[in-house]
Amino acid sequence: MASVTQRKATSPPLSQTILPRHLPNSLSPEDGVFNARARVLGGGSVLNAGFYTRAGENYTKEACWSEDLVKHSYEWVEKKVAFEPPMLQWQSAVRDGLIEVGVLPYNGFTYDHIYGTKVGGTIFDSDGHRHTAADLLEYADPQKITVYLHATVQKILFTTNERPRPKADCVIFEDASGGTHRACLIKSSVKSEIILSAGAIGSPQLLMLSGIGPANQLQTHGIDVVVEQPLVGQGMSDNPMNALFIPSPQPVESGRQPSMVTPEAMVSALETVQSYINANGTVSGVILEKIMGPMSTGHLDLLTTNANDNPSVTFNYFQDPQDLKRCVQGMQTIIDVVNSKALSKFRYSDMPVQGLINLMVNVPTNLKPRHVSASISLEQFCTDTVMTIWHYHGGCQVGRVVDNDYKVVGVDALRVVDGSTFLNSPGTNPQATVMMLGRYVGLRILQERKRLPAGKK
Ligand SMILES: Cc1cc2nc3c(=O)[nH]c(=O)nc-3n(C[C@H](O)[C@H](O)[C@H](O)COP(=O)(O)OP(=O)(O)OC[C@H]3O[C@@H](n4cnc5c(N)ncnc54)[C@H](O)[C@@H]3O)c2cc1C
Repeated sequence: MASVTQRKATSPPLSQTILPRHLPNSLSPEDGVFNARARVLGGGSVLNAGFYTRAGENYTKEACWSEDLVKHSYEWVEKKVAFEPPMLQWQSAVRDGLIEVGVLPYNGFTYDHIYGTKVGGTIFDSDGHRHTAADLLEYADPQKITVYLHATVQKILFTTNERPRPKADCVIFEDASGGTHRACLIKSSVKSEIILSAGAIGSPQLLMLSGIGPANQLQTHGIDVVVEQPLVGQGMSDNPMNALFIPSPQPVESGRQPSMVTPEAMVSALETVQSYINANGTVSGVILEKIMGPMSTGHLDLLTTNANDNPSVTFNYFQDPQDLKRCVQGMQTIIDVVNSKALSKFRYSDMPVQGLINLMVNVPTNLKPRHVSASISLEQFCTDTVMTIWHYHGGCQVGRVVDNDYKVVGVDALRVVDGSTFLNSPGTNPQATVMMLGRYVGLRILQERKRLPAGKK
């Protein structure tokens, strides 16, 4: 009966103009791709799509992390923020479609990043309430922590007095009304240090504003060089995302979301992107793929000396042909799923996949020029319709800007602990590992402090 209804339904016209939704804090679109960063307590976890997955086993090995401590740290995070999502009709159909086209094995619900198809975790609870990195503050002793809101750090200050190398000493921050304040480490304590967690855009920017970065760039902006470090702001990567919208004759729920993993691509339903096309009054589902561990990398450069301003970031999406090849494979998987029996009740019978590709080529998802060949060549389609999945990382990478203990190379009492330290974005999605890393490094710092000689505070 359902298939009879489907055959009678006709698809909506394809030529309407759909304007992209305004995203907060859009970064300079150097690559022609809209982007966003969160400026709020809890960072990206406050506005992101909510997918929650751990890093794969190999990632932990390559990062030389202690497996036990990693496991403990994920569990510590998951007690507060991770949940199993409900499987609604659209999501079930995409899952079944992936299985039908051979993306196997089916792993069921899991937080793990594994080969095949799975239902991933979410930071939305069963009532639909978002939990964020800020929830982890529930673990904190309120007597021992002070959190300042609306406080933008402008600069880290260093002391060189009677020291072989600079030591981070204070931060200068601005309040909401523009007033400037200084917060300093306790002078008598050797344990005190500054931990920078401003994300892949904020941390390299702040290091540069504080005098750690490529000397010529700092000098161009009149910043005194504390330590010349050409690798700050380098190795910036983002996982390119491409998608197909699937106008549907029946409602597509915008439930909080499972994630389905293919060998090379993450395929999922994301309501953020769906809103582009649904703004048209059209009901549609969306299936996305992203390239994990892109080979293409870019750089971050200062535009001004004000930390409130976004720096310029270039990711060079698809510069490496390997990334483009993987995108084509991911899109081919999406096309197979769209054509699967499992998805048929969400398809208009008079709209073949070519119609969906043409539709997508007409959605202004970015600022890039569109080529006529984008409708017939998946390579061109990938390049022309690329979006971000907001998994940008790098800029203060381990082994380059920070050492294996996340200490900034060349100075004392300063660490960076956030997504800027990643060489590759971990897991199906990064936030679980960013939160895990906070706990992981925190415990390592406590262990280090215990090892300090008696009498040293
Ligand atoms: C729209 C969107 C959707 C996403 N979807 C998902 C998803 O579904 N699943 C997933 O795993 N990941 C997702 N991500 C990515 C994930 O949220 C990020 O990888 C993660 O939040 C990165 O954490 P971070 O701590 O490195 O940086 P951020 O989360 O960016 O945190 C940086 C923090 O530093 C603060 N800050 C920056 N500069 C300063 C300064 N000068 N002074 C004071 N504070 C400062 C910011 O206010 C912010 O609180 C998404 C991201 C976005 C933006």
